[in-house]
This record gives sequence, structure tokens and C-alpha cells, in this order.
Amino acid sequence: MPPPLTDSFFPMSTAGVVAVALPTPLRRTFDYLLPDGVAVPEPGTRVAVKFGNQQLLGIVIETRSDSELPIEKLRPLDSVLDKTPLLPQELLQLCKWSSDYYHHPLGEVLATAIPTALRQGEAAHLQREKAWRLTPQGRECAPDKLKRAPKQLALWRQLSVLGPDQHLLHKDLLLQEISRSALKGLEDKGLTEAVEVDPVPLASPKLLAEPPLQLNCEQADALENIASTQFATYLLYGTTGSGKTEVYLQAIAKALEQGKQALVLIPEIGLTPQTLSRFRRRFHRPMAVMHSGLSDSERKQAWLLAANGQADIIIGTRSAIFTPLPKAGIVILDEEHDSSFKQQDGFRYSARDLAAVRCHRLGIPLVLGSATPSLESYYNAHQQRYRLLTLTTRAGEAKAPEIELIDLKRQPLQDGMTQALLDQVQLHLQSGNQVLVFLNRRGFAPTLMCHDCGWISQCPACDARLTVHQTPSHLHCHHCDYQRPLISQCPNCQSLELHCVGQGTERTEMTLQQTFEDYAVIRVDRDTTRRKDAMQNIVDKVNEGEPCILVGTQMLAKGHHFPNVTLVAILDADGGLFSTDFRGPEKMGQLLLQVSGRAGRAHKPGKVLIQSHLCDHPLLQTLLRQGYSAYANLLLQERQVAQLPPLRPMVLLRAESKRAENAFQFLDWARRAAEQLHPSSPELQYLGPLPAPMEKRNQRYRYQLQISANQRGRLHHLLKPLLEQLDQAPLARRCRWSVDVDPQDMT
Ligand code: ADP
Ligand code: ZN
Ligand code: ZN
Repeated sequence: MPPPLTDSFFPMSTAGVVAVALPTPLRRTFDYLLPDGVAVPEPGTRVAVKFGNQQLLGIVIETRSDSELPIEKLRPLDSVLDKTPLLPQELLQLCKWSSDYYHHPLGEVLATAIPTALRQGEAAHLQREKAWRLTPQGRECAPDKLKRAPKQLALWRQLSVLGPDQHLLHKDLLLQEISRSALKGLEDKGLTEAVEVDPVPLASPKLLAEPPLQLNCEQADALENIASTQFATYLLYGTTGSGKTEVYLQAIAKALEQGKQALVLIPEIGLTPQTLSRFRRRFHRPMAVMHSGLSDSERKQAWLLAANGQADIIIGTRSAIFTPLPKAGIVILDEEHDSSFKQQDGFRYSARDLAAVRCHRLGIPLVLGSATPSLESYYNAHQQRYRLLTLTTRAGEAKAPEIELIDLKRQPLQDGMTQALLDQVQLHLQSGNQVLVFLNRRGFAPTLMCHDCGWISQCPACDARLTVHQTPSHLHCHHCDYQRPLISQCPNCQSLELHCVGQGTERTEMTLQQTFEDYAVIRVDRDTTRRKDAMQNIVDKVNEGEPCILVGTQMLAKGHHFPNVTLVAILDADGGLFSTDFRGPEKMGQLLLQVSGRAGRAHKPGKVLIQSHLCDHPLLQTLLRQGYSAYANLLLQERQVAQLPPLRPMVLLRAESKRAENAFQFLDWARRAAEQLHPSSPELQYLGPLPAPMEKRNQRYRYQLQISANQRGRLHHLLKPLLEQLDQAPLARRCRWSVDVDPQDMT
């Protein structure tokens, strides 16, 4: 006789234990009991639980019949928040993979992947959104009446072609750079009204809003090569202005035609409006934007639009790699060399590397694009792990710029500028063109020094000097943000002979403005672009086309298209050649070429001037005479000799503490623990603990232990048991420590 169907026949243990990932620094999941009568939640579902005396939201990772703890010790779940899992299985698997690979707690990985509002328990529903349509009066309005208000007229025209129950979303209009004042102007005239609508954008039967460009041979070849239905990583290696974006757009069109979604990752939030308007001009398809400048509710909205498959194109920065893509078709990652794709604290993931993992699992193409690929990707292309697609000529009519080196040795300088450079600036301005002056240091001067006793303004909290700023006037540490008023008397010898040594963008701006009184000098750095639309305003002003000088930091190197800039002047090329970071020369070369690429982007030919004290340096010579590929090959040879990434995978253990010995002793102990697990050998080597290049920062002393191996697997094999020991070590409590897999920034 079969046993009776009682509870004990289906004991709680068939699936009565739910393993939950919680946002804690502990590297494990936590078991809870499923209360009677509650349906078994699928992995990826949000649940509320008690943890200590807190209430936390967690994500179900799996359900099991058993726990390592006695069942009677387990607490029940408080509630289950979702009927269907919030996180699709594919994304949950990616998070688990990331947690293993970066040795970071799963709960914290999930916190990166899920928007804050959803982590706080908000329902996974789309909010209704504000939209605009014409009033009956607006529909009857004669366009002539708006002649004097061209922006309002443009908006009216967009609205007037819509059907009676159609509308345009407020956020979409703002993204198209329709101003709030134009919106308000039409509303005040009674011509438009705001309505609340479901956020699902209106699908148009037509995919393309404008015809694609006729590709040149290289572009066509690249596009043809990008298989649309299977996994491969492509490195689209094309000089600046060679038309990579056009290749992205057409590759995306192929995916959209098949009813699929495209994810586009870009480096900087400042680039978002520009990229977006380029995509919007091309496609009649709903888009979602994901970047750190969004409010919690905007982020949730964008995430859900992607998750519901309602946004076909998702454009975002680093963390957008975790966007749900139920109809994933292609992933594009532009400016793949950019260091912002690697998170530098907490969960130290690389969006580029995760993109490759994710696309592999999804069976879709990944396109990495750059004019100056990272050595990692360049090496992968040479190893044929990535497929190399090259664009060697500038698209359209633009020509590659001519590059000239100016030797700084023994030259009289005017605030860091040679007469030869100033003459060229003059020449280009007089011909009605624009000039870009590049200097990767903001503020007025990097050092304040006493001419009588040699005193220097040091940061009290860091091994760094305080930068002199004039607007507003103060001393500022760029590493810990310490600030104090500017002084006029030496605190050491009371002399009044305090000198500003060296130059930053403020000083260069001042000098150039004095020299070229008749022209506008526009400074572009973090200080002048703090406000939300400041960068866009600068871009708009420059694109009006009047001759002017742009002075700025690397913000100017990134992707902006200034068609009237014909001269790019780089004040000092030498920084990267002395860097303590082994990536210094790589980053320097990328920056030099990216900045140079701003010259002569349209019909006018461009020129680049580079000032250096080391004009004969073999690296500089190779870069400028033979180009980036030769430069990258040379750097790869050096990395091979020095046994450094990408030829040899590396992990960095970092520790910092207010007392230097605490950080040092912890890493010293860690090294010994590691050597017990795997003695030092050619396969697996340890270096350190050593002081970080900037040993003291923000009151803390910083040390690092490098571990490198000939095979990545060896590192992971070591780290798993090692981190278990480190988590338990009493010394670990006396410092802050972290593990960084594939570190990018060694400082
Ligand atoms: P990249 O992304 O490689 O820096 P872009 O895609 O921005 O280059 O292209 C640079 C310029 O060349 C843009 O103004 C673009 O419209 C133009 N362009 C690109 N492809 C073509 C083409 N096939 N024919 C004509 N112009 C093109
Ligand atoms: Zn002094
Ligand atoms: Zn400081």
C-alpha cells in the first residue's frame, strides 16, 4: 500500500530550504525556511528576511531539501516579493560567474546588477510617464505664428505629425535636446498639454529614421564579417574618424531587423547625450539609457524597459553590462581601452571582460571598438581569440593629421609653451579655425614653493602636493579632496616669495587669454564641467564655429567631434614615460593619439604639435613615426620580458591602514599563508608586500602584494582557499583589504 499523502510524505525538506544571497561582505549564501503554503520561489526572486536584527532583501539563489545547519536553527523567510523572478536566469548565472571570478561576495555583485529602487523592495512595475501632445487649439495653430520662436516651432512640428491619440515622451524630448523653455513656451500659449501615459514608446513600422551611409570598402568588410547569429568577439580597430560608429549602427540594424535587442556600452556619462542623439537620428526604435547620473526611479524604469523587452537599444556606462536582455542580439563596447570600464573599488569587475563572457553564453557577437586598443584586446586579437577588423583611413573626406614634435630642451618657455607653438596657434586662429590645447592637469599650478627656503605645499593626509587653484583661489589635494585657503606667506620662513611652479589648465587658459585677447579661450576640465549640462553647452558653443582656443584635460580626448579644430597642441608628452605604473606608457600613447585624433575631423586638414623633453625616446619615436600597432607590439615585447599582463595574469591584494605596520603585517601574513598553499615557483610568483606607488593617501598607508601566474587557473585555485583563511585572520580586522583580479590601476 502506498504511504498516505501527508505533509510528512512531502517533508518540508523537498524544497523547504531557500539559499539567499544578501548584501553583506560575507562570501556565502544564507539558508532560510520556506513557510508552509508559500509557493517555492524560483532563483532570481526577491525575498525579505531577518538577518541578525536587521530586515534585508535578498535574492533566491537555489532551493534545496537540506541545509548544513540543523533545520530547527533556520529562520523562516518573511515574504516573497516577486511572482516571477526579478532576475532572469541568464543574468543570475552571469552574477554567479562574476562573483567566482572576481572573488567578490555574490550579494554585493547582485547589488551592482539590480537598480537601487528594486533592491529596496519597490514593485517591478513600470511607472507611468509624462508626455506631451497638442491641444485642439495647438492642432489648428498656423506655423507662421511661431516663426519668432524657432525652437517652439520645431517642437510643434514634431507633435503636429502625430495621430490624435499619440504623444511624445517628455524624457525623449529632453534627450533630443529640446529645451524645457520650449516645452513651457508652447504650454503657456495653450498649444500643448502634458499627459500621463504608459511608458511603452510608440513602435514605428519603419526601422530606420534616416538612410544609412554608403560604407567604404573597409567598413563594408568589417560589417560583413560581424556574424549576427553566433558568438565571436570582434576588435574593430579603426583610427579616430574612420567611421566605427557607422559600422556599429549598421551591425545593430541587422540585429534589430531580427527583432533583437542591442546593448551599447560607452565610457563616460558626458558622452551619453551625443551618442544618444546619433542613435536616435538613425533608428525609430525605443531606447533606454543607463548611467550613474540617473535618479533611482529613472534607473529602475530603464532597467524594466530592457527587462520587458520594450527597449530595443540600451545605451549605458559600465554597470549597464548587467542589464537584462531577453532578446539579446548584439553588444557593442565603444572606446574599449577606456579605464572606466573597470570598476576601481568594491566589486572590481571589468565590463569589457564580462561582456565577452556574457556574449559567449548568449551566443551573440560582441564588438569592441577603439583607435587605440588596450594591450589586452590587442594581444587577444593577435592570439586569434578576438577577430581583428581594421579601418585604416578616415571616413568621408577627412585626412589623417600631420604630427610635429617640438623639442623643449633649452627653449625659452612662456608658462610651458614654446614660441613655435604660440606662432602656430596664432596662424590657425587667423585662418578662422579652432585650436585645442591639451594639458592633463587641472588647477593653476601643481606646486606652491617658497623661493627662499624651498618649502613646498604638501597635503597633510597624502604623499602628494597641494595644487594651487585660482578660480576660486585655494589649495587643493586632488587625491583626498583636502582644501585650505591659499597663503601668501611661507609657513616655514615667513618669506613672501611664494611661487607657483608648473602649470595646470587655469594657468594655461590665463596665459593664452592674455596672448590672444581677441579670441575666446574655453577651459574644459572637471572644474568647468561640474554642472549637468555644462559640457553640452561648451560643445554647442564650439560648434557654432567661431575661431577659439579650447584648453583642457583628457575630457577633451574623449569622442567629441569638433569639426572646426585644425590644430591640436599637446603641452607635455613626457608624463607617461616616467610612470611607476607599468601601464603608464600604454595609457600615454592612447591619450596622445586620442587627443591628436581631435584635429581635422571634417573637411579641413589637421595638424598636431607635441612638446617634449624626450623627443628621441624610442617609445615616443615609435608611436609617432610608426603608429599605434608598432607601439603596441613594442610594449607587448616589454611586458613579455617583464612577465606582466596581458602575457601573464595577475591578482593584486591591497591593504591600507592608519598604521603602516597593520597593513604591511597583514599582507606579509597573507604571503606566507599563500606560500603554504602554493610555494613560489616560475608558475606562480609573489612580489611584495610593497608600498603602493602613493604610499600614504587620505591618512592611510597602503601596501600591495602582487601574485602572477603562467595560467589563470592557478591564481583562482590559490585564491579560493587563501581568501577563506584571510577572511578569518585576526590581522585582517586591523586594516582594510581587498582583492583585485586583473588590476588596471596599480596606484
Ligand atoms: P569613429 O567612430 O571611428 O571616430 P565616426 O563614425 O564618428 O568615426 O565617423 C567620423 C565621421 O565620418 C562622421 O562624421 C561620420 O558621419 C563620417 N562617416 C562615417 N562613415 C562614412 C561613410 N561611409 N561615408 C561618409 N562619411 C562617413
Ligand atoms: Zn620659506
Ligand atoms: Zn591629500
